[in-house]
Amino acid sequence: MNNQMNGFKREYLDTHATVFRTGDSGDAAYVIESGCVEVLAGSADQPLRLAVLAEGAMFGEVALLDRQPRTATVKALMPTTLIRIDRQHVEELLGRADPVIQYLLRLLLERFRNSSGKSAGDAELAKAPGTTNAPQSTPDLHAAAVRTLSLAHDLSAAIGSNQLELFYQPIIHMASRSLIGYEGLVRWRHPTMGLISPDEFIPLAEKTGLIHRIGDWVLRRGMLDWPRLRPLCQGAPGTTPFVSLNLSGPELCQPGIAEDIQQRLLAMAMPPAELRIELTETAVITNLSQVTAVTQQLRDLGVGIALDDFGTGYAGLDYLQTLPFSTIKIDKSFVQQMHDSTRSFHIIKSALELSRRLDLTSVAEGIEDNATSNLITSMGCTYAQGYQFAKPMPLEQVCQWKLAP
Ligand code: C2E
Ligand code: CA
Ligand code: CA
Repeated sequence: MNNQMNGFKREYLDTHATVFRTGDSGDAAYVIESGCVEVLAGSADQPLRLAVLAEGAMFGEVALLDRQPRTATVKALMPTTLIRIDRQHVEELLGRADPVIQYLLRLLLERFRNSSGKSAGDAELAKAPGTTNAPQSTPDLHAAAVRTLSLAHDLSAAIGSNQLELFYQPIIHMASRSLIGYEGLVRWRHPTMGLISPDEFIPLAEKTGLIHRIGDWVLRRGMLDWPRLRPLCQGAPGTTPFVSLNLSGPELCQPGIAEDIQQRLLAMAMPPAELRIELTETAVITNLSQVTAVTQQLRDLGVGIALDDFGTGYAGLDYLQTLPFSTIKIDKSFVQQMHDSTRSFHIIKSALELSRRLDLTSVAEGIEDNATSNLITSMGCTYAQGYQFAKPMPLEQVCQWKLAP
């Protein structure tokens, strides 16, 4: 049997063994897996049995909230197995949880703490005089949780009621300094909260499953807008204009996604080479076999596949061998530091070298000034995008935009 399960530990006790005594410092709660225990108050000479707890019961849980000493003694009445839940482990789990979950748990803990019906294992549960032991539910945590909850609630309606918009950021072919295409970046124009960034609502959509409807909308919108954008691209000899759309992991793992994209291309009479799909490392590594199959199908159709945010994930480089990428996108965090950090500079240099050797095109993101665009061009980067050229813009605005000579 395992003694360690996901950070929780098993403890085995013989008959009469003590779990903890009055006065011990409390740093764990216990769940009885098998056997039973007695909870004793009073002195060692004249113990008073408060309760007998059996399989499934929890005791000592106030230790998860407070660093107060135990005010009861607990002993095994027979051979007993306990699952020990350390406060430190619970705090770590809580710290990693979504803000909404953190907030709800803290509310529950607070309510539990203030309630009078406390468990027998914590005869100590009476508050020590003068202590205020309500956990801190900070205003920040509260505000973040309320915002997330209301966004999650409103997102579903947003998709069906024209609140999503696809902005476009121009992508420049660096050697010829010409407009080669656009990246489509989704925005949510919330009726009361204004424009909401995809960094905020895409993770929410991934968790709630709404990402499939968003992905569907983005693909449709991007392909519908392309006939207006395509004539604006100047291109350069040997290059094909393209619109690049972001897909997240769950979208790519949806059964039939490659066939669906093929049908859409046919319906729109759009050449597959003019569509590029951007994937992040995280999307790739969460389901490598499925993503490999889908990206291969898309490449066979002629659709471009870009590896987004290159260098920021935790994956090794093996997937560059197995996945049929056509493009590497160098993350803006490196680009923006390339003048100040030799580390960033060398990461970019290696990424460009790698893309040349693997016969991939490269895109540098986050170019904000001339010095960076000149440097990146001299290093052989194929394409670039960034505020130096243009921010992402609504369709009508991007149609009016021209690259400064
Ligand atoms: P990303 O795909 O890495 O997109 C690039 C982000 O960098 C965009 O943020 C863009 O506005 C921003 N950016 C571009 N140039 C510059 C620059 O020069 N300086 C700075 N500081 N930032 C620049 P945005 O539009 O807020 O998108 C954030 C992320 O949301 C995207 O990162 C992408 O991962 C995700 N996302 C956006 N649209 C979609 C979508 O349609 N579907 C999915 N699944 N994810 C999307
Ligand atoms: Ca992207
Ligand atoms: Ca990116």
